[in-house]
Amino acid sequence: MIYLDHNATTPVDPQVLKEMLPYFSERYHNPSSVCSKSQENRELIETIRHSIASILGAHEDEIFFTSGGTESDNLAIKGVALRNRDKGNHIITSGIEHPAVLEAVKYLGENGFRVDYVPVDRYGIVDLEALEMNIRKDTVLISIMHANNEVGTIQPLEEISKTARREGIIFHTDAVQSVGKLPINVDRLGVDLLSLSGHKLYGPKGIGAIYIRRGIEFYPIIHGGHQERSVRAGTENVPGIVGLGKALELAVKNIEEHNTIIKSLRDMLWDGIKKSIPDVVLNGHPENRLAGTLNVSFRNIEGEAILLALDMAGIAASSGSACSSGSSVPSHVLSAMGLPPEVGRGTVRFSLGHQNTREDIEKVLQVLPGIVQRLRAMSPLSQ
Ligand SMILES: *Cc1c(COP(=O)(O)O)cnc(C)c1O
Repeated sequence: MIYLDHNATTPVDPQVLKEMLPYFSERYHNPSSVCSKSQENRELIETIRHSIASILGAHEDEIFFTSGGTESDNLAIKGVALRNRDKGNHIITSGIEHPAVLEAVKYLGENGFRVDYVPVDRYGIVDLEALEMNIRKDTVLISIMHANNEVGTIQPLEEISKTARREGIIFHTDAVQSVGKLPINVDRLGVDLLSLSGHKLYGPKGIGAIYIRRGIEFYPIIHGGHQERSVRAGTENVPGIVGLGKALELAVKNIEEHNTIIKSLRDMLWDGIKKSIPDVVLNGHPENRLAGTLNVSFRNIEGEAILLALDMAGIAASSGSACSSGSSVPSHVLSAMGLPPEVGRGTVRFSLGHQNTREDIEKVLQVLPGIVQRLRAMSPLSQ
């Protein structure tokens, strides 16, 4: 199987798995108990918190463990908006966010908040002027993602955060796709809250973290015990935290090296597609995007049909977002970028990762032109 769906999830790195395993067996102790084994686990969690904080340029009391990217986004959005309601009830986000952000914001919209969605250009970059024009006296939160999961476009967070700072508005970013792939420093980016997830960076599923800048006021969204300084109740996912810590450590050690290799394979794939298949469109920013992401629309056919044929040839890719697969509705991201629905329907997202090789790309380039040609010959859309 050739796996080209790393933006959906990544395999757990064997070194990460090895670190995690003892915490399922002999080191199972609850970090909140008093026995010495429990205290060892408590100290370990704090060591990992410290190491994640230093990787992000944060203080360790600004990092909280969660169950993943979705929970971090929910905590950032609902936690901040509800706590700051007395200051205003207006939220700004974009139309290309992950459903974890869009649905959290929609929930608030149904519960007394006003939401504005900033438009993006055809490459998926947020319109800064429109953002400024949407700011009102009662705007309490701006949430704009760092790198988009479908097309890979990277947002100018430094510029957005300058505006947010100047206006005194809290700024959250969903950095689930960028942590481990781009160098991240919360002060340089100027963000107040940042979400990340383990399974997008060769760590396990079901673990994530959130950075919350000192002084930002928010409510917890999971209530119960006093874990995570009462920000996130529930017995800590010790193996998950160990895995997240190790995965992040490995990811940031090799960012440049990985990006160089992955980008050259991705460009090889795009060059090959352009040469062998007519009527294709590259979605996302030509330069300013994640090294491993290649989102292509093939005119006059359905993306799903291409995916099924690729799957039969032993190649795993995606139509864009895992959440919208199975439906032939064009993705909200491509629609927001102004791609006509008839083009958007024929979209495949290839997302490359560490294990991919030149042979993988050659294999894809051997089978893809034939698949597209065959589907186009049968397609009523081509007539
Ligand atoms: C995968 C993803 C999420 C959700 O993270 P989970 O850990 O799967 O809940 C959120 N935002 C983006 C951009 C993602 O790619």
